[in-house]
Amino acid sequence: MAQTAVRGAAVELPPSGLFINGSFVKAEDGATFPTYEAASGQVLMDVASAGEADVNRAVEAAREAFVREWSELGLRERGRVLSRVADLIEERGDQLTLLEVANSGKPIRDVRRGEIQEAASWFRFYANIGDHLRSTVIPSPGGYLNYTVREPFGVVGLIIPWNYPLIAAAMKLAPALGAGNAVVLKPAEQTPLSALVLGEICNEAGVPAGVLNIVNGAAATGRALVAHPAVSMISFTGSTEVGREILGRAADQVKHVSVELGGKTPSIVFADADLETAAATILFSFCGNLGQRCTAGTRLVIEKSVQKPFLEILSELALALRIGDPLEDETQLGCLIDEHQFRRVQGFVDGGVAEGAELVIGGKRASVRGCEGGFFYEPTIFNNVDSRARLAQEEIFGPVLSTLSFESEDQAVELANATPYGLSAGVWTRDTSRAQWLAGRLESGRVWINTMNINTVPSPRAPFKQSGLGFEGGVEHALEFTQLKSVWLNLGASPPRL
Ligand code: NAD
Repeated sequence: MAQTAVRGAAVELPPSGLFINGSFVKAEDGATFPTYEAASGQVLMDVASAGEADVNRAVEAAREAFVREWSELGLRERGRVLSRVADLIEERGDQLTLLEVANSGKPIRDVRRGEIQEAASWFRFYANIGDHLRSTVIPSPGGYLNYTVREPFGVVGLIIPWNYPLIAAAMKLAPALGAGNAVVLKPAEQTPLSALVLGEICNEAGVPAGVLNIVNGAAATGRALVAHPAVSMISFTGSTEVGREILGRAADQVKHVSVELGGKTPSIVFADADLETAAATILFSFCGNLGQRCTAGTRLVIEKSVQKPFLEILSELALALRIGDPLEDETQLGCLIDEHQFRRVQGFVDGGVAEGAELVIGGKRASVRGCEGGFFYEPTIFNNVDSRARLAQEEIFGPVLSTLSFESEDQAVELANATPYGLSAGVWTRDTSRAQWLAGRLESGRVWINTMNINTVPSPRAPFKQSGLGFEGGVEHALEFTQLKSVWLNLGASPPRL
């Protein structure tokens, strides 16, 4: 197995090829692209870049494998294979951790503490999903039996972003495969490495050749996958802008689509809340993964009477966070994925200052010794942001918080709902009746009360508004990867005739 050294740590590299029909292969035209260590900008390795011909090969392999094997394999055997995938993810946790940290720049403690286990738990949950894909008998006129069955689509295309490369792959692969589909996965071009290890793991676990295919590449590879007529469904996670494009292209072929898109999560804090706990959790929410997560709580909607003391607590906590080398155990904040993302974040910050928002702390790149090529960023807090400003409306994907204040419950709801997004929201108050009243009025697929960013695999969630269409987690997520068929059996009735 090839290795590379990253500041003294030996990182085991995956095979560099496209994963098609159970083997790692070169692109037909031999194209490759480099993938980088986020914290230094050093090239980790070159990986094969899939063109349209390669996407076609991958889809063909998936279609054959679906017909030949996967859909025919009994539920129990499919479940056993997916459970083995979960075990192997944990067994290869050290390799996956280092690859994920190097490729994405997230702190090693975050990956070790939760992301490997979470990736495994997606496969463990959906290994047993066959037990929940029930048929229903529908009451019907005498002489007939009418029932519905859930069938897999066949070939499903999965397109994922770079912010949680391993978890994003697991959270689509597990329900799609568990429901009986064969898949073609397109990882983000910035972070292809952990998915390639998943290819090896699936081979070892006994996933039949062709059932999982991985095509690395950028937007053109994703477009080829969306356009392929044999791909019956696309499941996409990424930006609202690309999601909109995919919905438009899929409409040409009336293709099923699920899209998990952006967010601008409000954290609504009332004066009666436990302010210390709220501050620590909101900090975790908007700075975790350096704000590069769709559910980052990037809008603080705070009751005016506690605005000043709350911002003081929050700023003090933020300034104490350890920004550092993602490979070091003590590091709490790693780096942004790349220079493009840094420029985007800095653009929002500079624009906010120019528009008159009050910069409380942060607002610039941070430097970390030994990682001079990485784009580290200070936790950044703005006060008195106009709710209509870009800072308060658009997803930044960096550790940037915008503060808006309210004086009544109605005003809090109005501010919280005043974006095109509806992914998640946090409410902080000791008054549980008020919290539940608010939960009913928030235009959001997830509401956290006196906590934030808690998710489990069995708990289904669905975005509201322009945050997307479809489910993540729970039985609902697997149902999304199936189509419903209604079957009528004549038990002795006279069939209709003219
Ligand atoms: P992105 O939309 O730029 O890219 C996502 C994926 O789509 C990548 O694999 C990319 O190569 C591919 N792609 C790009 N253009 C395409 C096209 N025209 N056709 C097909 N595929 C195409 O997003 P990103 O920058 O990688 O990730 C950040 C975004 O992801 C943020 O907006 C974030 O909110 C969102 N996200 C959402 C969720 C959620 O669950 N709602 C979770 C994680 C990330």
